[in-house]
Amino acid sequence: MDSRTISEKYAKIGKYLIENVGELSHLEGENIIYLSSTHAKKANRKKVLGQCEKVADKNKWAIPCDFTITLFEPNLEGLSMEQIVVVIWHELLHVGVDDDNKWIEPHDLNDFKMIIEKFGVKWSVPGTVINDKVVLMAAAEGRTE
Ligand SMILES: [Zn+2]
Repeated sequence: MDSRTISEKYAKIGKYLIENVGELSHLEGENIIYLSSTHAKKANRKKVLGQCEKVADKNKWAIPCDFTITLFEPNLEGLSMEQIVVVIWHELLHVGVDDDNKWIEPHDLNDFKMIIEKFGVKWSVPGTVINDKVVLMAAAEGRTE
């Protein structure tokens, strides 16, 4: 039976990214819950690393937030903490908010242009080294757990 649990470690990384990446600063104060799942989720026969979901109004009594970001642990095997930080960064780009609305932002390419430009198309392949100051620092936050 797969289970999802709240992850303080991923919450710390997400908070760090929101506070330190200009393109994510509009998410400051948003109510996002970070979850860790034991499910080896697949879509189109490909491993899904993370998923961002908007919480439906009717479910907010149980899940008191606007968005959840879930990381699928079995699919993260072999990835460095830095790569996991980029997964969280990627998922945060799916959080769409303005003054009146909240939505799931779709990819602009097969990924987000910003992620590809910064980290290359192979960023999520095990063994790829991510060398970015913000990512390294966010990873360090997660490692202190
Ligand atoms: Zn995505």
